[in-house]
Amino acid sequence: MPKSHGSDIDALIQLLAKLPGLGPRSARRSTLQLLKKRDSVMVPLAHALMNVADKVQICEVCSNIDTHNPCHVCEDVRRDRTTICVVEDVSDLWALDRSETFRGQYHVLGGTLSALDGIGPDDLTVDSLIERVRGGEIEEVILALNATVDGQTTSHYLAEKLEEFDVKVTALAHGVPVGGELDYLDDGTLAAALRARGSVSS
Ligand code: ZN
Repeated sequence: MPKSHGSDIDALIQLLAKLPGLGPRSARRSTLQLLKKRDSVMVPLAHALMNVADKVQICEVCSNIDTHNPCHVCEDVRRDRTTICVVEDVSDLWALDRSETFRGQYHVLGGTLSALDGIGPDDLTVDSLIERVRGGEIEEVILALNATVDGQTTSHYLAEKLEEFDVKVTALAHGVPVGGELDYLDDGTLAAALRARGSVSS
């Protein structure tokens, strides 16, 4: 294929194309924008990448990814220390924290149990979760795992593991999304919403 740019620029396009949401076409467009905005975007971006790449760490308490260890969530003294919200991935932690509804602690499991993929409790941060609960300060563990078969299997497993401790174990409600129309929901979501129905407050 004829090349309209050198191998250095090509390497940049190839790397950008690995990012989620960017295929080869978007990667080419992004690269061209970077080249055109060398001083205002490209150089600051390169510095920001190097800075974060230098400092990125896994939090020893909750397994969040941050440039601090313990992470800014674990360090924040204004957050509730008695509640832990268990999530599969850092992206779930970010999503929940964006909602600004939950102001407690988190625990990133690093995935879900999966017989098919050979992922057992030792591949996840189950032990460190149990240790945190054993510490005694925790009063409630919220299982905020995905509504997939593996997510729900993992929730049941964790709920059983936590039975021996004096903590309340809760799970996220599943149901009708805000702004959702019933006609568009799948049967499983509709059934879950009906089971988790509540009183209408006036
Ligand atoms: Zn942390």
